[in-house]
Amino acid sequence: MEKVDVAIIGGGPGGATLANILASRGVSTALIERQKDFSKEFRGEGLMPSGKAVLEQIGFDLDDVDYRKVEEMNLFYKGQLAANPEIEFLKEGEFRWVSQPQLLEKLIEKASGFDNFIFYRGYKAQDLIYNKDRVDGVVITDGNKEASIKAKVVIGFDGRNSMVRRKLNFEVKEYKLQPDVLWFKIPYPEKFLPGSQAFFSLFPKSFLVAVPVYDQKLQVGWIIPAGSYGELKKKGKEQWIQYIKEKSPSGFADHLQKCLDENSISDPFILKMTLDRVKKWSKKGALLLGDAAHTMNAVGGQGLNIALRDAVVCANHLVPLMDSNPSNSSLDKAFEAIEKERIEEVTKVQEIQSRPPKFIAQNVLMVEIIVPVLKLLFKFNFTDNLRKELIERMSRGFTEVKLKV
Ligand SMILES: Cc1cc2nc3c(=O)[nH]c(=O)nc-3n(C[C@H](O)[C@H](O)[C@H](O)COP(=O)(O)OP(=O)(O)OC[C@H]3O[C@@H](n4cnc5c(N)ncnc54)[C@H](O)[C@@H]3O)c2cc1C
Repeated sequence: MEKVDVAIIGGGPGGATLANILASRGVSTALIERQKDFSKEFRGEGLMPSGKAVLEQIGFDLDDVDYRKVEEMNLFYKGQLAANPEIEFLKEGEFRWVSQPQLLEKLIEKASGFDNFIFYRGYKAQDLIYNKDRVDGVVITDGNKEASIKAKVVIGFDGRNSMVRRKLNFEVKEYKLQPDVLWFKIPYPEKFLPGSQAFFSLFPKSFLVAVPVYDQKLQVGWIIPAGSYGELKKKGKEQWIQYIKEKSPSGFADHLQKCLDENSISDPFILKMTLDRVKKWSKKGALLLGDAAHTMNAVGGQGLNIALRDAVVCANHLVPLMDSNPSNSSLDKAFEAIEKERIEEVTKVQEIQSRPPKFIAQNVLMVEIIVPVLKLLFKFNFTDNLRKELIERMSRGFTEVKLKV
């Protein structure tokens, strides 16, 4: 049986970053990831300055990974440009759409340079191991192969369908009314969006988000009421693309038609958005982090960045403890301190994330009223500071997170 200080379940951005920091500081670390190929898991690729700062602090060379900078953001309503706000961090080229599979491979490659790092690629964590009623390990399987890993600390960095959350029956606070997102990719519309521009387009009861990505494509997410994809699927792709075209600016509608004619629209896939968090992040000696502790929806491109920041705070608390043989109570205290340090930012971001989906899904009339108001807000300077402050916080973080170990 393998014995390590820390077993991390989930080799997403959060788990892979935490493993890097721990292993580089001499903590023996096992990272368990069920996928052999990272491209099999679809996740957020929007790297904010807050997430970028984490990767820079661990000495990761971001230019090693394919990316595309997003330099402008537009808001369309009823096919017309409603706003093109100046967003400093975009203008400064600080928002990147990065290839997640590449980022994760490089993070694993970097961690593999440390002797005390073991990566279980393609192993699924099936169950937790207990000593009396405290978690002290994990059972992993790869097909017929089964292995056990004993660990002083087990961390569930295993995403929105976390096994650790499920097995330990964590109590959850859920934000209801989360819509679904229909994702697809098309070639980047150079004529309609010269340079590298993203946009939002508001429809009645739904909206479109489109972001330029590293493979010269436009990643499109259509945020639709929960459960409505069944109907759309029955109607067929041509029908719902037709609907999007009718509600979109003519330049984009023409581009979509061209993509349809050339058969260059990728197969769409539907994702149920979730927004929730566990009421307490640790239980029976195991700690949840990232989406496992607080599943983020796609609003404001936060989840990836928040997971990276969780990893830093966790490392700051665990590394000094792991130098000695930590008692259970000192570990429990560290878990509580990690939660305490992160909960403020997570709560603030989730409150912000809970608003747009609720609003768009429920109040068609309200959208009619609010868009002209929004246009005015973007036009006049008196809201500048307020808007800048919110954008600053969403892009650079609500609290200070710095690697201290
Ligand atoms: C479609 C989509 C779009 C998004 N867009 C954005 C965006 O633009 N910007 C942004 O910041 N965030 C976005 N998010 C959110 C973001 O992807 C997540 O918040 C972020 O990936 C969380 O990181 P994590 O490391 O906590 O978990 P994850 O990235 O979910 O990683 C968890 C890992 O655990 C592995 N795993 C799960 N169960 C097991 C098990 N039993 N055994 C072993 N391994 C296991 C999974 O395979 C996965 O690799 C988006 C999410 C989705 C789904």
